[in-house]
Amino acid sequence: MKKIVLASKNLDKVKEMRLILRSLPLEILSLADFKELPDAVEDGATFEENALIKAKFFREQTGLACLADDSGLEVDALGGLPGVYSARFAGYHADDATNNQKLLDELKKIGVEESAADYRCALAFVDTDGTELLTTGKICGTIKIVAQGNGGFGYDPYFYIDERRTMAQLPVDEKNLISHRGAALKAMILELKRRFR
Ligand code: IMP
Repeated sequence: MKKIVLASKNLDKVKEMRLILRSLPLEILSLADFKELPDAVEDGATFEENALIKAKFFREQTGLACLADDSGLEVDALGGLPGVYSARFAGYHADDATNNQKLLDELKKIGVEESAADYRCALAFVDTDGTELLTTGKICGTIKIVAQGNGGFGYDPYFYIDERRTMAQLPVDEKNLISHRGAALKAMILELKRRFR
């Protein structure tokens, strides 16, 4: 069976992606199977560029086909920030808690309690022969300063998918049905099925 590597160190993302990809005839590895690999330098200006940078980098490092995701939150009231800086909004050693605090601080500075926002995801697949596939997904919602729920990860407790519920209140399979990553993965699965059928 063909092996592919999910090129993410974020265990939550890997869990979400594995669940969707299980329908394909592929052996799915992750970076946890390759200890001690260096980090890719994510210096692209867009989610698409960063996803491709990561997929190419880990394809070279592992010698296997790689699927990489780059994703993040764009808040209208913050001019689209944190965008490609979502993982390190509060600095290079940021975690979910410090990033969320930074988000609240930035909204407070401008006196905003809620704002339209979206999550976006780009997925890049680079095969061993160099073939590149790229898909994207997006979900629109609202960022509010009141957190709800303890599922999901990242900015999920502040990302409202409707009047009542945040992304952090959905079980992972329900999140996948509507999320930016779920949409990008569904499109990628169609491409991969065509390729590996
Ligand atoms: P990446 O690993 O460089 O793509 O960084 C993605 C960052 O965007 C994560 O660390 C989160 O802060 C944020 N993010 C992306 N997808 C989600 C999601 O589904 N829920 C919450 N936050 C997300």
